[in-house]
Amino acid sequence: MTTHAPRTSQSVTLPGSLDEAVAALAAMPAAVPVAGGTDLMAAVNRGQLRPAGLVGLGRIGELRSWRYQDGGHALLGAGLTHARMGRPDFAALIPALAASARAAGPPQIRNAGTLGGNIASAAPTGDTLPVLAALEAELIIAGPGGIRREIPVAHLLTGRDLLGPAELIGFVRVPLLHAPQVFLKATGRTGPGRATASVAVVLDPQRRGVRCAVGAIAPMPLRPLEAERWIASLIDWDGERGLAAEALAAFGEYVAAACIPDPEPAAEGEEQQVLSPAVLHLRRTVAALARRALGRALS
Ligand SMILES: Cc1cc2nc3c(=O)[nH]c(=O)nc-3n(C[C@H](O)[C@H](O)[C@H](O)COP(=O)(O)OP(=O)(O)OC[C@H]3O[C@@H](n4cnc5c(N)ncnc54)[C@H](O)[C@@H]3O)c2cc1C
Repeated sequence: MTTHAPRTSQSVTLPGSLDEAVAALAAMPAAVPVAGGTDLMAAVNRGQLRPAGLVGLGRIGELRSWRYQDGGHALLGAGLTHARMGRPDFAALIPALAASARAAGPPQIRNAGTLGGNIASAAPTGDTLPVLAALEAELIIAGPGGIRREIPVAHLLTGRDLLGPAELIGFVRVPLLHAPQVFLKATGRTGPGRATASVAVVLDPQRRGVRCAVGAIAPMPLRPLEAERWIASLIDWDGERGLAAEALAAFGEYVAAACIPDPEPAAEGEEQQVLSPAVLHLRRTVAALARRALGRALS
């Protein structure tokens, strides 16, 4: 991407390994990492950011691939682009993540934008985020001195554990569940657009679980845990796994009400608050997405 922002003296480093990138950031604390630049350079172009230096991650081969790991996991490099994750071999492995990557913006954005950038930006509309939350993915964070630490992705997204100085997201560990998973997104327009709401549903037959996360309606993805447990208890995991339309609809309503609850009953003498039409519409959208996503996962 190009920048039209006023130029300041800027150092650009292009390390060849994750540890070199960490060392470059440690040596120049005012520098920021840049992967595809689709978020970062947009902020520069808007004049919101004037980094003193850039550490480009694009030449770090280890970040741009994925591999199988013992214990039924895939280790995904933070530099995987949305375009790469959308390809059929990846979709066969982690279908919901592939679907979210295919939905992330127009092709030029998907060719440049990366998994790590999506996570680090942590925008509410980040399409991979509800999927990673539903998969209960772990981040492997690289720090100075070759140190690696692992945290659940939810910890970073909720701000419970932030990236420290000179730390980078190196890899994302995702369980391979070998079961249906679905990502659906609603936008306010036709064609590619940011999500107004999104839902990821992941089946985990081994643990007889359904995991669901709702994106874009709050600063971080929301997990309706009670709705997950309730619907999992209705599924015949050893049989056909299908559910009646009424159960799917009730799941949608349960998820939506958990994520967008009714206002508390008014205290005596106070006026009862009600949800605005716009919020009610959003709640209906979430209910429809959750119902459809579960229906597709079970069909
Ligand atoms: C027109 C347009 C449409 C878009 N549509 C969508 C959409 O529909 N869905 C969606 O989810 N996103 C969308 N995006 C946002 C963006 O493309 C994604 O968030 C993308 O995944 C960001 O990745 P990147 O590699 O470009 O990040 P960059 O812009 O390079 O970096 C983003 C931030 O992450 C940090 N960072 C990058 N990599 C790492 C790392 N490994 N470790 C630590 N920090 C890191 C950077 O310092 C920066 O703060 C859109 C963007 C644009 C411009």
